[in-house]
Amino acid sequence: MRFDGVHEKTVVIIKPDGVQRSLVGEVTKRLEMKGLKIVAMKMMILSEDKLREHYAHHVEKPFYPGLEAFMKSSPVVAMVAEGKDAVAAVRLIAGVTNAGKADGGTIRGDLAMGMCNVIHCSDSPENGEAEVKRFFDESEVFEYNKTEWLHVYMEDERA
Ligand code: ATP
Ligand code: MG
Repeated sequence: MRFDGVHEKTVVIIKPDGVQRSLVGEVTKRLEMKGLKIVAMKMMILSEDKLREHYAHHVEKPFYPGLEAFMKSSPVVAMVAEGKDAVAAVRLIAGVTNAGKADGGTIRGDLAMGMCNVIHCSDSPENGEAEVKRFFDESEVFEYNKTEWLHVYMEDERA
C-alpha cells in the first residue's frame, strides 16, 4: 500500500550547533511527533564544494565565510522527512531564520538565540527534491509504509 498523496520530501540538516548542543534527539523527536516520516538519516561532514552549492544564494555575501566555517565546524545530521506538504510543515515548526526572532513553540524559537539556528530545511518542494539528490545516494533513501499514517491523515488527504 502506497499513499500517493503524501510523498513530498524535505531535507532537514541538524547543523553543527545542534549536534554540539546535543539537540539531535530533540529535533528528531519534534519531526516524528508532528507526523512526518523519516526516510533517510546520516551523519556527515559538509565539504566546501557542497556548501558552496547548497548556499549558492549566499556565496557572494559578506557573512558567507563565517557561515561556511560554522557549517564545517562539526559533523551534521542530514535527514529526509516525508509527508503531505512536508516542506511547508517543516518550515512552520522550524521558525524564522533568525532564531532570536522565531516564535515560541518552533525549533529555532525554543532552542536557539540567533543565526546559529539549529537546522536547515528545504524552502520549496523543488529544492527539497534537489537537496535529496545533493546530500543522499538513492540507496540511502527508503520507501516504506508507516501504519500510523492511517491516524495522521484522513482518507481524502492520502488520495
Ligand atoms: P536554512 O536554509 O538554513 O534553512 P533559511 O532558509 O531560513 O535557513 P537562508 O536565507 O536560506 O535562511 O540562509 C541560510 C543560512 O545562512 C541561515 O540559516 C543562516 O545560518 C545563514 N544566514 C542567512 N543570512 C545570514 C546573515 N545575514 N548573517 C549570518 N548568517 C546568515
Ligand atoms: Mg534556506
